[in-house]
Amino acid sequence: PTLVSFKDVSKTFSNGVTALAGFDLDIFAGEFVSLLGPSGCGKSTVLRLIAGLAEPTDGSVAWPEARSDDHRGEIGFVFQDATLMPWANVADNVWLPLRLRGVSRRDAQDRIVESLALVGLGDFAKAYPRELSGGMRMRVSIARALSLKPRLLLMDEPFAALDEIARFRLNDDLLRLQGELRCTVVFVTHSVYESAYLSSRIAVMSPRPGRIVAAIEGLSPGPRA
Ligand code: ADP
Ligand code: ADP
Repeated sequence: PTLVSFKDVSKTFSNGVTALAGFDLDIFAGEFVSLLGPSGCGKSTVLRLIAGLAEPTDGSVAWPEARSDDHRGEIGFVFQDATLMPWANVADNVWLPLRLRGVSRRDAQDRIVESLALVGLGDFAKAYPRELSGGMRMRVSIARALSLKPRLLLMDEPFAALDEIARFRLNDDLLRLQGELRCTVVFVTHSVYESAYLSSRIAVMSPRPGRIVAAIEGLSPGPRA
């Protein structure tokens, strides 16, 4: 089934920049799709449209099977920077999306523990962000995105700021996670290598204005470590 369907979408910002035009894409439940393209081709804009953080200027972004218009609880968003709150410990950082939905710290406890275990940080609940490596901070940010048990995980160049080795490890962890959770992932990257390693399908975008120019399908994701 189709989770999200873009039909002839365009997006022009108030400054006159057209980020997307004639953009078509279906995202299928359970797949790991990469959006691959150079900086500025509109990849982040696509994620923001999926998340409802922006509205299309023209065309439609639809959730064909959805029962309501509120998709917030179904989406986990991981940004390029881990964007953790420095004054809060790891567990409280992971609590944030649940907290915004009115879930108390006590009621969130099981979810927090579960999410941290998934990313291999079960022992770091009480640590503070400054005590962690870049890769660990990114894991916290992934755990935070998973705390709502999203059906759809949106990742915007999540590993761009990490060194090669941390990046390799996280790639394999992400594959394992997706295999376990069976959630749908949309992964934005400008790395050909990463997109081929991670995803079952690559949607290639070209810039000015951003649109899909090729699709590479039937890839088998890398080894599940
Ligand atoms: P990518 O994620 O592929 O680097 P973006 O979606 O961030 O691309 O941006 C696509 C284009 O839209 C770029 O030219 C960018 O400068 C422009 N853009 C993005 N967001 C805004 C905004 N809020 N206002 C004006 N222009 C924007
Ligand atoms: P080799 O080709 O000799 O195995 P590489 O440097 O390509 O050397 O890979 C070394 C190890 O890192 C291998 O176990 C490989 O599976 C793993 N690896 C390579 N690329 C990635 C990647 N993008 N993400 C995760 N692991 C990777």
